[in-house]
Amino acid sequence: MDMQDTVARLKQGIATMADEVKLQDLILWSLQELRAQYRQSSDLFPPDLIADLQRAARLAEAIHEFRDAVDDASDARTRDEAMDVARQLESLRARLWPPMLARRLDKELRELAERAAPLPEAHTLKRGAIQRRIVVELESAAPPCTRCGKRVVLRETADGAFWGCSTFPRCFSSRPLKRDEWSSLESAH
Ligand SMILES: [Zn+2]
Repeated sequence: MDMQDTVARLKQGIATMADEVKLQDLILWSLQELRAQYRQSSDLFPPDLIADLQRAARLAEAIHEFRDAVDDASDARTRDEAMDVARQLESLRARLWPPMLARRLDKELRELAERAAPLPEAHTLKRGAIQRRIVVELESAAPPCTRCGKRVVLRETADGAFWGCSTFPRCFSSRPLKRDEWSSLESAH
């Protein structure tokens, strides 16, 4: 296929495709084709086209991370895990810049919220008495949710802990622990 056609098809796909799996395939295939053409005649590739292609390559990486998070979403067994996935999804928002993918991300977050509602809370369940007391102290000292003003709770997953709004899945707001909060938590181990 001619280089201009490959580029046109890639740009059209990014602008219109709502299926992230197919779009990821299209980007990877197009970049492979274009790399081969670049090796033959690099003078056909102006700097702004190269910048667009690098942006497409970063988009394919973001889609890859999005798909991993979607897999994690279906495995979530507690609200803490579900909220951790919601954080990952939100953190990808800026990198999933095509409008169709932004809609896809919103849909995934809505479905995650529906699935999370009946799940059990998990924070502090695995902790001993001393740790639970420290968590209660930290939670009562933590500033409220910056988005809705309700209290925050310590949410824990296998990978760590973070402050999440107690009203999740109604509110998705979260923030990382501060250094001194981490050290209090660690001191109880
Ligand atoms: Zn909130």
